[in-house]
Amino acid sequence: MVEPRDVVVIGGGFAGLSAAVALAKRGFRVAVLERKPALGGRAYSFADTESGDFVDNGQHVLMGCYAETLKFLDGIGARGQLVFQRNLAIAMVERGGRAGMLKTARLPGPLHMAAALMRYRLLTLRERLSAMRAGLRMLRMHRYDRARLSQATVAALMEVLGQGERARRCFWYPLAIATLNEDPELASAALLAGVFKRAFFARRSDSAFVYARVGLSDLYCPGSVRIIEAGGGLVETHAAVETLEFAAPGTVSGVRLRDGRRLQAANFIAAVPPAQLVRLLPEGAGADPFFAHLGEITSSPIICVHAWFDREITDAVFVGFVGTATQWLFNKRRIFAEHGERANGYLSFVISGARKLVDAGNEELLDLVTGDLNAMIPASRGARLLKALVLKEKQATMAPSPECDRLRPSLATPISNFFLAGDWIQTGLPATIESAVASGHAAAAAVAARAGDWAKRA
Ligand SMILES: Cc1cc2nc3c(=O)[nH]c(=O)nc-3n(C[C@H](O)[C@H](O)[C@H](O)COP(=O)(O)OP(=O)(O)OC[C@H]3O[C@@H](n4cnc5c(N)ncnc54)[C@H](O)[C@@H]3O)c2cc1C
Repeated sequence: MVEPRDVVVIGGGFAGLSAAVALAKRGFRVAVLERKPALGGRAYSFADTESGDFVDNGQHVLMGCYAETLKFLDGIGARGQLVFQRNLAIAMVERGGRAGMLKTARLPGPLHMAAALMRYRLLTLRERLSAMRAGLRMLRMHRYDRARLSQATVAALMEVLGQGERARRCFWYPLAIATLNEDPELASAALLAGVFKRAFFARRSDSAFVYARVGLSDLYCPGSVRIIEAGGGLVETHAAVETLEFAAPGTVSGVRLRDGRRLQAANFIAAVPPAQLVRLLPEGAGADPFFAHLGEITSSPIICVHAWFDREITDAVFVGFVGTATQWLFNKRRIFAEHGERANGYLSFVISGARKLVDAGNEELLDLVTGDLNAMIPASRGARLLKALVLKEKQATMAPSPECDRLRPSLATPISNFFLAGDWIQTGLPATIESAVASGHAAAAAVAARAGDWAKRA
Protein backbone atom coordinates (compact mmCIF):
# COMPACT_ATOMS: atom_id res chain seq x y z
CA MET A 1 0.00 0.00 0.00
CA VAL A 2 1.23 3.50 -0.82
CA GLU A 3 2.11 5.52 2.27
CA PRO A 4 2.69 9.30 2.46
CA ARG A 5 6.36 8.55 3.05
CA ASP A 6 6.75 6.81 -0.36
CA VAL A 7 8.57 8.88 -2.96
CA VAL A 8 9.75 8.03 -6.47
CA VAL A 9 12.83 9.89 -7.73
CA ILE A 10 13.48 9.61 -11.46
CA GLY A 11 17.18 10.00 -12.30
CA GLY A 12 20.31 8.96 -10.43
CA GLY A 13 22.64 11.92 -10.96
CA PHE A 14 23.71 14.49 -8.35
CA ALA A 15 20.22 16.03 -8.23
CA GLY A 16 18.28 12.78 -7.85
CA LEU A 17 20.67 11.21 -5.35
CA SER A 18 20.94 14.33 -3.19
CA ALA A 19 17.13 14.62 -3.11
CA ALA A 20 16.77 10.93 -2.25
CA VAL A 21 19.42 11.05 0.49
CA ALA A 22 17.82 14.14 2.05
CA LEU A 23 14.43 12.39 2.02
CA ALA A 24 15.81 9.11 3.40
CA LYS A 25 17.37 11.06 6.27
CA ARG A 26 13.92 12.51 7.02
CA GLY A 27 12.34 9.05 7.21
CA PHE A 28 11.00 8.74 3.65
CA ARG A 29 11.08 5.49 1.70
CA VAL A 30 12.53 6.43 -1.66
CA ALA A 31 12.74 4.52 -4.93
CA VAL A 32 15.43 5.96 -7.22
CA LEU A 33 14.97 4.87 -10.83
CA GLU A 34 17.90 5.33 -13.21
CA ARG A 35 17.66 4.31 -16.83
CA LYS A 36 21.39 3.76 -17.42
CA PRO A 37 23.37 0.71 -16.24
CA ALA A 38 25.12 2.87 -13.61
CA LEU A 39 24.38 5.87 -11.41
CA GLY A 40 26.08 9.23 -11.83
CA GLY A 41 24.37 10.88 -14.81
CA ARG A 42 26.64 13.48 -16.34
CA ALA A 43 29.22 13.18 -13.54
CA TYR A 44 30.50 9.62 -13.58
CA SER A 45 33.70 7.61 -13.76
CA PHE A 46 34.74 4.19 -14.97
CA ALA A 47 37.76 1.95 -14.53
CA ASP A 48 40.02 1.83 -17.58
CA THR A 49 41.21 -1.77 -17.61
CA GLU A 50 44.24 -1.15 -19.82
CA SER A 51 45.82 1.60 -17.68
CA GLY A 52 44.30 0.57 -14.36
CA ASP A 53 43.21 4.18 -13.83
CA PHE A 54 39.84 5.64 -12.97
CA VAL A 55 38.59 7.94 -15.72
CA ASP A 56 35.99 10.64 -15.10
CA ASN A 57 33.73 11.48 -18.04
CA GLY A 58 35.34 14.89 -17.55
CA GLN A 59 37.33 16.44 -14.74
CA HIS A 60 34.91 18.11 -12.34
CA VAL A 61 35.97 20.90 -10.01
CA LEU A 62 33.91 22.07 -7.05
CA MET A 63 34.48 25.34 -5.24
CA GLY A 64 34.50 26.31 -1.58
CA CYS A 65 31.19 28.13 -2.17
CA TYR A 66 29.44 24.83 -3.08
CA ALA A 67 27.65 24.81 0.29
CA GLU A 68 24.85 22.40 -0.67
CA THR A 69 27.22 19.96 -2.37
CA LEU A 70 29.62 19.92 0.56
CA LYS A 71 26.68 19.35 2.93
CA PHE A 72 25.51 16.43 0.77
CA LEU A 73 29.00 14.90 0.54
CA ASP A 74 29.49 15.36 4.29
CA GLY A 75 26.18 13.62 4.91
CA ILE A 76 27.21 10.52 2.94
CA GLY A 77 30.67 10.39 4.54
CA ALA A 78 32.54 11.46 1.39
CA ARG A 79 34.29 14.60 2.63
CA GLY A 80 37.50 12.70 3.27
CA GLN A 81 37.76 11.97 -0.44
CA LEU A 82 37.98 15.65 -1.31
CA VAL A 83 41.05 17.84 -1.57
CA PHE A 84 40.50 21.48 -0.55
CA GLN A 85 42.83 24.19 -1.80
CA ARG A 86 43.54 26.43 1.16
CA ASN A 87 43.52 29.53 -1.08
CA LEU A 88 42.61 29.82 -4.73
CA ALA A 89 45.79 29.31 -6.75
CA ILE A 90 45.58 28.83 -10.51
CA ALA A 91 48.62 28.75 -12.76
CA MET A 92 47.72 30.25 -16.16
CA VAL A 93 50.15 29.81 -19.06
CA GLU A 94 50.47 31.31 -22.51
CA ARG A 95 52.22 29.95 -25.60
CA GLY A 96 55.90 29.48 -24.98
CA GLY A 97 55.35 28.87 -21.28
CA ARG A 98 54.91 32.48 -20.03
CA ALA A 99 52.98 32.06 -16.80
CA GLY A 100 50.93 34.08 -14.35
CA MET A 101 49.50 32.95 -11.05
CA LEU A 102 45.98 33.84 -9.97
CA LYS A 103 46.57 33.41 -6.27
CA THR A 104 44.43 34.91 -3.58
CA ALA A 105 46.07 36.49 -0.53
CA ARG A 106 45.41 35.67 3.12
CA LEU A 107 43.06 38.64 3.43
CA PRO A 108 39.32 38.82 4.12
CA GLY A 109 37.15 38.66 0.98
CA PRO A 110 36.90 40.41 -1.42
CA LEU A 111 40.35 41.88 -0.72
CA HIS A 112 41.82 38.40 -1.25
CA MET A 113 40.70 38.53 -4.91
CA ALA A 114 41.86 42.12 -5.38
CA ALA A 115 45.30 40.99 -4.25
CA ALA A 116 45.18 38.02 -6.64
CA LEU A 117 44.46 40.36 -9.54
CA MET A 118 47.14 42.84 -8.51
CA ARG A 119 49.75 40.06 -8.58
CA TYR A 120 48.58 38.53 -11.87
CA ARG A 121 51.52 38.90 -14.22
CA LEU A 122 49.74 38.12 -17.49
CA LEU A 123 48.12 41.58 -17.27
CA THR A 124 49.79 44.99 -17.15
CA LEU A 125 49.32 47.07 -14.02
CA ARG A 126 46.84 49.25 -15.89
CA GLU A 127 44.85 46.17 -16.99
CA ARG A 128 44.82 44.77 -13.46
CA LEU A 129 43.45 48.03 -12.01
CA SER A 130 40.87 48.22 -14.78
CA ALA A 131 39.78 44.60 -14.16
CA MET A 132 39.38 45.35 -10.47
CA ARG A 133 37.21 48.39 -11.16
CA ALA A 134 35.21 46.31 -13.65
CA GLY A 135 34.66 43.61 -11.04
CA LEU A 136 33.31 46.13 -8.54
CA ARG A 137 31.04 47.67 -11.17
CA MET A 138 29.76 44.22 -12.12
CA LEU A 139 28.86 43.56 -8.48
CA ARG A 140 26.99 46.87 -8.31
CA MET A 141 25.08 45.95 -11.46
CA HIS A 142 24.27 42.55 -9.95
CA ARG A 143 22.76 44.33 -6.98
CA TYR A 144 21.03 47.32 -8.56
CA ASP A 145 20.68 46.62 -12.28
CA ARG A 146 19.86 42.90 -12.52
CA ALA A 147 17.33 43.44 -15.34
CA ARG A 148 20.02 44.88 -17.62
CA LEU A 149 22.49 42.11 -16.75
CA SER A 150 19.96 39.38 -17.42
CA GLN A 151 19.48 40.61 -21.01
CA ALA A 152 23.21 40.84 -21.77
CA THR A 153 25.87 38.35 -22.78
CA VAL A 154 29.26 38.13 -21.11
CA ALA A 155 30.93 39.69 -24.18
CA ALA A 156 28.47 42.61 -24.17
CA LEU A 157 29.10 43.12 -20.46
CA MET A 158 32.84 43.28 -21.12
CA GLU A 159 32.19 46.13 -23.59
CA VAL A 160 30.19 47.99 -20.97
CA LEU A 161 32.96 47.43 -18.42
CA GLY A 162 35.64 48.62 -20.88
CA GLN A 163 37.63 45.40 -20.76
CA GLY A 164 40.13 45.03 -23.59
CA GLU A 165 41.09 41.96 -25.58
CA ARG A 166 43.93 40.91 -23.29
CA ALA A 167 41.98 41.28 -20.05
CA ARG A 168 39.23 39.17 -21.56
CA ARG A 169 41.56 36.52 -22.92
CA CYS A 170 43.81 36.19 -19.86
CA PHE A 171 41.34 36.76 -17.03
CA TRP A 172 37.62 37.08 -17.66
CA TYR A 173 37.02 34.48 -20.36
CA PRO A 174 38.94 31.55 -18.85
CA LEU A 175 36.91 31.94 -15.65
CA ALA A 176 33.65 32.60 -17.52
CA ILE A 177 33.99 29.58 -19.83
CA ALA A 178 35.03 27.27 -16.98
CA THR A 179 32.10 28.24 -14.78
CA LEU A 180 29.39 28.74 -17.43
CA ASN A 181 30.48 26.23 -20.12
CA GLU A 182 29.70 28.58 -22.96
CA ASP A 183 31.20 30.95 -25.50
CA PRO A 184 31.21 34.46 -23.88
CA GLU A 185 29.42 35.76 -26.99
CA LEU A 186 26.44 33.59 -25.96
CA ALA A 187 26.62 33.22 -22.16
CA SER A 188 24.49 35.24 -19.76
CA ALA A 189 26.15 38.18 -18.02
CA ALA A 190 23.80 37.79 -15.04
CA LEU A 191 25.01 34.23 -14.44
CA LEU A 192 28.65 35.35 -14.62
CA ALA A 193 28.02 38.21 -12.18
CA GLY A 194 26.35 35.72 -9.81
CA VAL A 195 29.37 33.43 -9.99
CA PHE A 196 31.78 36.26 -9.25
CA LYS A 197 29.67 37.43 -6.33
CA ARG A 198 29.37 33.97 -4.75
CA ALA A 199 32.72 32.48 -5.63
CA PHE A 200 35.37 35.10 -6.21
CA PHE A 201 34.24 38.20 -4.31
CA ALA A 202 32.86 36.52 -1.17
CA ARG A 203 34.82 34.70 1.56
CA ARG A 204 38.39 33.60 0.82
CA SER A 205 37.50 29.93 1.30
CA ASP A 206 34.61 30.27 -1.19
CA SER A 207 36.95 30.85 -4.12
CA ALA A 208 39.20 27.86 -3.43
CA PHE A 209 39.02 24.85 -5.77
CA VAL A 210 37.92 21.49 -4.37
CA TYR A 211 38.34 18.21 -6.23
CA ALA A 212 37.89 14.49 -5.63
CA ARG A 213 40.89 12.24 -5.25
CA VAL A 214 38.79 9.26 -6.29
CA GLY A 215 36.75 8.56 -9.44
CA LEU A 216 33.62 10.72 -9.56
CA SER A 217 31.16 7.84 -9.26
CA ASP A 218 32.98 6.49 -6.21
CA LEU A 219 32.76 9.90 -4.60
CA TYR A 220 29.00 10.01 -4.25
CA CYS A 221 27.14 6.99 -5.64
CA PRO A 222 27.85 4.13 -3.18
CA GLY A 223 27.48 6.43 -0.13
CA SER A 224 24.11 7.66 -1.40
CA VAL A 225 22.83 4.14 -2.07
CA ARG A 226 23.78 3.07 1.47
CA ILE A 227 21.70 5.82 3.04
CA ILE A 228 18.71 5.38 0.73
CA GLU A 229 18.64 1.61 1.38
CA ALA A 230 19.12 2.07 5.11
CA GLY A 231 15.91 4.13 5.04
CA GLY A 232 14.01 1.22 3.51
CA GLY A 233 14.29 2.58 -0.04
CA LEU A 234 15.77 1.10 -3.19
CA VAL A 235 17.97 2.20 -6.06
CA GLU A 236 17.48 0.56 -9.44
CA THR A 237 19.57 0.97 -12.56
CA HIS A 238 18.37 -0.20 -16.01
CA ALA A 239 15.06 1.30 -14.84
CA ALA A 240 13.90 3.73 -17.52
CA VAL A 241 10.69 5.55 -16.69
CA GLU A 242 8.52 5.85 -19.75
CA THR A 243 5.68 8.00 -18.51
CA LEU A 244 3.96 9.53 -15.53
CA GLU A 245 0.48 8.15 -14.78
CA PHE A 246 -2.42 10.16 -13.43
CA ALA A 247 -5.34 8.78 -11.37
CA ALA A 248 -7.05 12.15 -11.11
CA PRO A 249 -6.21 15.38 -12.96
CA GLY A 250 -3.47 17.30 -11.18
CA THR A 251 -2.07 14.35 -9.21
CA VAL A 252 0.48 11.81 -10.34
CA SER A 253 -0.40 8.32 -9.13
CA GLY A 254 2.57 6.39 -10.47
CA VAL A 255 5.19 5.84 -13.13
CA ARG A 256 5.29 3.24 -15.87
CA LEU A 257 8.71 1.82 -16.68
CA ARG A 258 9.93 0.80 -20.11
CA ASP A 259 9.84 -2.85 -19.03
CA GLY A 260 6.11 -2.50 -18.33
CA ARG A 261 6.30 -2.34 -14.53
CA ARG A 262 4.35 0.28 -12.60
CA LEU A 263 5.39 1.95 -9.38
CA GLN A 264 3.12 4.04 -7.17
CA ALA A 265 4.03 6.63 -4.56
CA ALA A 266 2.64 9.66 -2.77
CA ASN A 267 5.16 12.12 -4.23
CA PHE A 268 7.40 12.21 -7.30
CA ILE A 269 10.58 14.06 -8.19
CA ALA A 270 11.86 14.12 -11.79
CA ALA A 271 15.62 14.78 -11.66
CA VAL A 272 16.25 14.44 -15.38
CA PRO A 273 17.37 16.96 -18.05
CA PRO A 274 14.65 18.99 -19.83
CA ALA A 275 14.49 16.91 -23.03
CA GLN A 276 13.88 13.72 -21.01
CA LEU A 277 11.35 15.44 -18.76
CA VAL A 278 9.25 16.46 -21.75
CA ARG A 279 9.14 12.80 -22.84
CA LEU A 280 7.83 11.69 -19.44
CA LEU A 281 4.76 13.89 -19.66
CA PRO A 282 1.59 12.25 -20.92
CA GLU A 283 0.05 13.57 -24.11
CA GLY A 284 -1.55 16.97 -23.62
CA ALA A 285 0.40 17.88 -20.47
CA GLY A 286 2.99 19.65 -22.61
CA ALA A 287 0.37 22.24 -23.52
CA ASP A 288 0.32 23.55 -19.94
CA PRO A 289 2.18 26.92 -19.98
CA PHE A 290 4.48 25.63 -17.24
CA PHE A 291 5.80 22.80 -19.42
CA ALA A 292 5.24 24.34 -22.87
CA HIS A 293 8.69 25.90 -23.38
CA LEU A 294 10.94 23.38 -21.62
CA GLY A 295 11.79 21.76 -24.96
CA GLU A 296 13.36 25.06 -26.06
CA ILE A 297 16.10 24.84 -23.44
CA THR A 298 19.23 23.92 -25.39
CA SER A 299 22.57 22.51 -24.26
CA SER A 300 26.28 23.22 -24.58
CA PRO A 301 29.01 20.58 -25.08
CA ILE A 302 32.28 19.76 -23.29
CA ILE A 303 35.14 17.73 -24.77
CA CYS A 304 37.54 15.87 -22.52
CA VAL A 305 40.72 14.22 -23.70
CA HIS A 306 42.42 11.80 -21.34
CA ALA A 307 46.02 11.08 -22.30
CA TRP A 308 48.68 8.77 -20.91
CA PHE A 309 52.34 9.65 -21.56
CA ASP A 310 55.53 7.70 -20.92
CA ARG A 311 56.48 10.17 -18.18
CA GLU A 312 55.03 12.80 -15.88
CA ILE A 313 54.83 16.08 -17.73
CA THR A 314 54.27 18.62 -14.97
CA ASP A 315 54.33 18.92 -11.19
CA ALA A 316 51.26 21.17 -11.20
CA VAL A 317 47.87 19.76 -10.19
CA PHE A 318 46.14 21.82 -12.86
CA VAL A 319 47.07 24.51 -15.33
CA GLY A 320 44.88 26.98 -17.23
CA PHE A 321 45.81 27.48 -20.90
CA VAL A 322 45.37 31.02 -22.25
CA GLY A 323 44.61 31.57 -25.93
CA THR A 324 44.36 27.95 -27.13
CA ALA A 325 41.35 25.75 -27.85
CA THR A 326 42.34 23.51 -24.92
CA GLN A 327 41.49 25.38 -21.73
CA TRP A 328 42.64 23.24 -18.83
CA LEU A 329 45.09 20.49 -18.06
CA PHE A 330 44.51 18.33 -14.96
CA ASN A 331 47.32 16.16 -13.70
CA LYS A 332 45.53 13.00 -12.54
CA ARG A 333 48.63 11.54 -10.89
CA ARG A 334 48.71 14.56 -8.56
CA ILE A 335 44.95 14.54 -8.09
CA PHE A 336 44.93 10.83 -7.14
CA ALA A 337 48.02 11.47 -4.95
CA GLU A 338 50.03 8.98 -7.01
CA HIS A 339 52.72 11.47 -7.99
CA GLY A 340 56.01 9.61 -8.29
CA GLU A 341 54.35 6.24 -7.67
CA ARG A 342 53.45 5.36 -11.25
CA ALA A 343 55.95 5.51 -14.09
CA ASN A 344 53.64 7.15 -16.62
CA GLY A 345 51.84 10.48 -16.70
CA TYR A 346 48.06 10.69 -16.87
CA LEU A 347 46.59 14.03 -17.91
CA SER A 348 43.01 15.12 -18.54
CA PHE A 349 42.35 18.08 -20.84
CA VAL A 350 39.11 20.05 -20.92
CA ILE A 351 37.52 22.10 -23.68
CA SER A 352 34.30 23.69 -22.40
CA GLY A 353 31.72 25.51 -24.51
CA ALA A 354 33.05 23.34 -27.33
CA ARG A 355 30.36 24.05 -29.98
CA LYS A 356 32.87 24.66 -32.76
CA LEU A 357 34.85 21.47 -32.10
CA VAL A 358 32.30 18.92 -31.01
CA ASP A 359 31.88 17.45 -34.50
CA ALA A 360 35.62 17.11 -35.14
CA GLY A 361 37.06 13.59 -35.28
CA ASN A 362 38.89 12.07 -32.32
CA GLU A 363 42.28 12.05 -34.09
CA GLU A 364 41.92 15.72 -34.97
CA LEU A 365 41.01 16.58 -31.38
CA LEU A 366 43.90 14.59 -30.02
CA ASP A 367 46.33 16.41 -32.36
CA LEU A 368 44.84 19.73 -31.31
CA VAL A 369 45.23 18.99 -27.60
CA THR A 370 48.76 17.58 -27.83
CA GLY A 371 49.74 20.55 -30.03
CA ASP A 372 48.37 22.93 -27.38
CA LEU A 373 50.21 21.02 -24.66
CA ASN A 374 53.52 21.29 -26.55
CA ALA A 375 52.95 25.01 -27.08
CA MET A 376 52.10 25.67 -23.43
CA ILE A 377 54.49 23.32 -21.69
CA PRO A 378 57.54 23.04 -23.94
CA ALA A 379 59.00 20.33 -21.66
CA SER A 380 56.24 17.98 -22.91
CA ARG A 381 57.67 17.89 -26.44
CA GLY A 382 59.84 14.83 -25.88
CA ALA A 383 57.14 12.80 -24.13
CA ARG A 384 55.63 9.82 -25.94
CA LEU A 385 51.85 9.44 -26.00
CA LEU A 386 50.97 5.90 -24.91
CA LYS A 387 47.21 6.01 -25.15
CA ALA A 388 44.31 8.45 -25.26
CA LEU A 389 40.54 8.57 -24.83
CA VAL A 390 38.42 11.34 -26.30
CA LEU A 391 35.05 11.79 -24.57
CA LYS A 392 32.52 14.18 -26.02
CA GLU A 393 29.62 15.22 -23.82
CA LYS A 394 27.37 16.79 -26.44
CA GLN A 395 24.75 17.80 -23.89
CA ALA A 396 27.08 18.53 -21.02
CA THR A 397 25.04 21.33 -19.49
CA MET A 398 22.15 23.62 -20.22
CA ALA A 399 23.25 26.44 -22.56
CA PRO A 400 23.55 29.39 -20.15
CA SER A 401 22.27 32.01 -22.59
CA PRO A 402 20.03 34.83 -21.33
CA GLU A 403 17.14 33.17 -23.22
CA CYS A 404 17.59 29.69 -21.68
CA ASP A 405 18.14 31.18 -18.23
CA ARG A 406 14.73 32.85 -18.51
CA LEU A 407 13.06 29.54 -19.45
CA ARG A 408 14.34 27.64 -16.38
CA PRO A 409 11.33 26.44 -14.34
CA SER A 410 10.78 26.39 -10.60
CA LEU A 411 10.87 23.04 -8.79
CA ALA A 412 7.16 23.18 -7.95
CA THR A 413 4.98 22.27 -10.94
CA PRO A 414 1.22 22.74 -11.50
CA ILE A 415 0.89 19.08 -10.42
CA SER A 416 0.67 19.13 -6.64
CA ASN A 417 2.73 15.99 -5.91
CA PHE A 418 5.23 16.30 -8.76
CA PHE A 419 8.48 18.27 -8.31
CA LEU A 420 11.50 18.96 -10.49
CA ALA A 421 15.21 18.83 -9.70
CA GLY A 422 18.34 19.10 -11.82
CA ASP A 423 21.15 21.52 -12.53
CA TRP A 424 18.94 23.33 -15.07
CA ILE A 425 16.10 24.19 -12.63
CA GLN A 426 16.03 27.90 -11.71
CA THR A 427 18.47 28.08 -8.81
CA GLY A 428 20.16 31.34 -9.82
CA LEU A 429 23.33 29.32 -10.42
CA PRO A 430 24.85 28.09 -13.67
CA ALA A 431 24.17 24.43 -14.50
CA THR A 432 26.72 22.91 -12.14
CA ILE A 433 26.87 20.24 -9.48
CA GLU A 434 25.99 22.91 -6.91
CA SER A 435 22.86 23.83 -8.84
CA ALA A 436 21.92 20.14 -9.16
CA VAL A 437 22.34 19.49 -5.42
CA ALA A 438 20.69 22.77 -4.38
CA SER A 439 17.66 21.79 -6.48
CA GLY A 440 17.70 18.24 -5.10
CA HIS A 441 17.70 19.51 -1.53
CA ALA A 442 14.97 22.05 -2.30
CA ALA A 443 12.78 19.38 -3.98
CA ALA A 444 13.23 17.10 -0.95
CA ALA A 445 12.20 19.95 1.37
CA ALA A 446 9.11 20.60 -0.80
CA VAL A 447 8.10 16.93 -0.63
CA ALA A 448 8.64 16.90 3.14
CA ALA A 449 6.52 20.04 3.54
CA ARG A 450 3.73 18.50 1.44
CA ALA A 451 3.86 15.19 3.27
CA GLY A 452 3.73 17.10 6.55
CA ASP A 453 0.58 18.86 5.40
CA TRP A 454 -0.90 15.54 4.29
CA ALA A 455 -0.12 13.91 7.63
CA LYS A 456 -1.83 16.75 9.50
CA ARG A 457 -4.97 16.40 7.35
CA ALA A 458 -5.10 12.61 7.60
C1 LIG B 1 32.32 16.81 -18.96
C2 LIG B 1 31.61 17.59 -17.90
C3 LIG B 1 32.34 18.38 -17.02
C4 LIG B 1 31.68 19.09 -16.03
N1 LIG B 1 32.43 19.83 -15.14
C5 LIG B 1 31.82 20.39 -14.08
C6 LIG B 1 32.59 21.02 -13.06
O1 LIG B 1 33.80 21.08 -13.13
N2 LIG B 1 31.93 21.52 -11.98
C7 LIG B 1 30.57 21.46 -11.87
O2 LIG B 1 30.03 21.91 -10.86
N3 LIG B 1 29.80 20.87 -12.82
C8 LIG B 1 30.40 20.34 -13.92
N4 LIG B 1 29.65 19.71 -14.88
C9 LIG B 1 28.18 19.73 -14.76
C10 LIG B 1 27.68 18.60 -13.84
O3 LIG B 1 28.17 17.36 -14.26
C11 LIG B 1 26.16 18.59 -13.89
O4 LIG B 1 25.69 19.87 -13.52
C12 LIG B 1 25.53 17.57 -12.95
O5 LIG B 1 26.17 16.33 -13.04
C13 LIG B 1 24.05 17.44 -13.31
O6 LIG B 1 23.41 16.52 -12.43
P1 LIG B 1 21.86 16.24 -12.57
O7 LIG B 1 21.53 15.23 -11.55
O8 LIG B 1 21.12 17.51 -12.59
O9 LIG B 1 21.64 15.61 -14.02
P2 LIG B 1 22.19 14.25 -14.64
O10 LIG B 1 23.56 13.99 -14.12
O11 LIG B 1 22.02 14.35 -16.12
O12 LIG B 1 21.21 13.13 -14.06
C14 LIG B 1 19.99 12.82 -14.68
C15 LIG B 1 19.85 11.30 -14.67
O13 LIG B 1 18.53 10.98 -15.07
C16 LIG B 1 18.61 9.79 -15.84
N5 LIG B 1 17.37 9.70 -16.64
C17 LIG B 1 17.00 10.48 -17.67
N6 LIG B 1 15.79 10.08 -18.14
C18 LIG B 1 15.39 9.04 -17.37
C19 LIG B 1 14.24 8.22 -17.36
N7 LIG B 1 13.25 8.38 -18.26
N8 LIG B 1 14.14 7.23 -16.43
C20 LIG B 1 15.13 7.04 -15.53
N9 LIG B 1 16.27 7.79 -15.50
C21 LIG B 1 16.39 8.80 -16.40
C22 LIG B 1 19.87 10.00 -16.67
O14 LIG B 1 20.34 8.77 -17.20
C23 LIG B 1 20.80 10.62 -15.63
O15 LIG B 1 21.54 9.64 -14.94
C24 LIG B 1 30.27 19.05 -15.92
C25 LIG B 1 29.55 18.25 -16.81
C26 LIG B 1 30.19 17.53 -17.79
C27 LIG B 1 29.39 16.66 -18.71
